Amino acid sequence: MSEENNEEKKSVDFIREIINEHNKNGKYDSRVHTRFPPEPNGYLHIGHAKSICLNFGLAAEYNGRCNLRFDDTNPSKEEQEYVDSIKEDVSWLGFEWDEECYASDYYEQLYDWAVELIKKGKAYVCDLTDQEIREYRGTMGGGKEGTPPGKDSPHRDRSVEENLDLFTRMRDGEFEDGSKTLRAKIDMAHPNLNMRDPVMYRIQRAHHHRTGDKWCIYPMYDYTHGQSDSLEKITHSICTLEFENHRPLYDWYLDELDLYHPQQIEFARLNLTYTVLSKRRLLTLVMDKYVDNWDDPRMPTIAGFRRRGYTPEAIRNFCKRIGVAKADSRIDLALLEHCLRDDLNKRASRFMGVLDPLKVVITNYPEDGEDILEAVNNPEDESAGVRKVPFSRELYIEREDFMEDAPKKFFRLSVGREVRLRYAYFITCTEVIKDQAGNVVELRCTYDPETRGGDAPDGRKVKGTLHWVSAKHALKSEVRLYDRLFTVENPDAERDNWLNCLNPDSLEIKSEVFVEPAIAELKTGDFFQFERTGYFCVDKDTTAEKMVFNRSVGLKDSWAKIQNK
Ligand code: ATP
Ligand code: MG
Repeated sequence: MSEENNEEKKSVDFIREIINEHNKNGKYDSRVHTRFPPEPNGYLHIGHAKSICLNFGLAAEYNGRCNLRFDDTNPSKEEQEYVDSIKEDVSWLGFEWDEECYASDYYEQLYDWAVELIKKGKAYVCDLTDQEIREYRGTMGGGKEGTPPGKDSPHRDRSVEENLDLFTRMRDGEFEDGSKTLRAKIDMAHPNLNMRDPVMYRIQRAHHHRTGDKWCIYPMYDYTHGQSDSLEKITHSICTLEFENHRPLYDWYLDELDLYHPQQIEFARLNLTYTVLSKRRLLTLVMDKYVDNWDDPRMPTIAGFRRRGYTPEAIRNFCKRIGVAKADSRIDLALLEHCLRDDLNKRASRFMGVLDPLKVVITNYPEDGEDILEAVNNPEDESAGVRKVPFSRELYIEREDFMEDAPKKFFRLSVGREVRLRYAYFITCTEVIKDQAGNVVELRCTYDPETRGGDAPDGRKVKGTLHWVSAKHALKSEVRLYDRLFTVENPDAERDNWLNCLNPDSLEIKSEVFVEPAIAELKTGDFFQFERTGYFCVDKDTTAEKMVFNRSVGLKDSWAKIQNK
């Protein structure tokens, strides 16, 4: 573990070095103030968790502050539901923001600053369409040195007076949506396309979730973000790598407006195998009903992971272990699963549940007999104590724990073989009952009363231990087994074909699952282990009649195997 911590420490160090340098020379008065700035246009996903852990984590480490800021500049895609879900998810992950902020609260100030730039001759109203702006800007060369210059807008040299007049009238709603923009006047020959007179404002009649219909012009993200950071006195504005070539623009606005100037720092976003993390794609999965909702346990959203049975501890530990780097990579989903297993192994109570039941009748056990046995709740945690498990003449075991013509190495049940029923007795199979089609429908077994509790006083050993449930005490429940949502490691590489890579078997429902009665004390969200089967949690679809369980993760650790290779 200490080696992992080292890795983590090293990888975040490039940000720490910047902060330490600032603190050494007293920049920002040696404060650290970060922010997590989601756009409320979808639910948060595991990639956002990385950003949350980083921003809140650094603030905590430096005894600083961290804001939650909603970057709500695109009213057509944003909703209050998303704001609420984001707050819930950040809290659930275990973080407390210092201030709750909204870019939309700065609209008036941003407008005034735009007027200031117009007065300085640094912004102009342009009548070109979106398409024309793109064409004039040029796309050749990907923004590198030597890119052919763009072409000036015919409106670039409007007078300050005309620009002020037009911009006021834009705000007053005199022009149609999309018919005019306000653009920064920078450099149409700049090698970085973002600096070629970027749009600051567009006209868009859309109801905003907070400002209502007050505005019909909305500021662009690039014009809004840095000034919002500045207003909140953010010191270190940490964002993902795709904003690296927006940094000159971030700096330009602040310099031209002569404002307090935070430092933008970029890091590599999280990518996960067998997963898409683009909000646009996640929205498609929800809206087109490929999954049930944002919190479908197959979704890589925080809400999905929560419902699946992930713990905040597991997700935070995952974020720590993957670290923060300057280069893009794709993390193995198995590592995330490993982190969950690691956490639940220490904390989850064990229960017995039979997912694919096969009836067993103990022929030498009294017809109406009943026995209450004692089971250990968590072998990793003595303080978790013990519970009572009822035993009777008719039981269920897992169908796969019986084989008719079993090879020697099959250490489970077969005719003539003896196994241990966990916490109960040794049993020996004496007879197989089949239906007319030849399917095994029942096993007849005898038990050895001397082995109560699971050990033979004569020292006799058995190789197999099975989980089981007493038929007449069992609760019939539903179990939902989840598999990865995509069949390919990198669905993003499939481009427009990504939906064809959805795993048709990502959900399997078992509706005849028999579970020991003690499970009834659990409530929605509680996690536990079904012995020998996996970690599960109680789903919110549970009713008084039927409990529903989600498999959070299986017991087999594929990450350990990958690492040993
Ligand atoms: P997407 O690109 O999926 O639509 P986004 O970046 O537009 O997501 P925002 O709501 O703007 O989503 O993101 C809020 C913060 O989370 C930003 O600072 C962004 O850089 C960060 N973030 C988003 N996705 C990831 C990711 N996969 N890994 C790390 N950080 C991320
Ligand atoms: Mg964004």
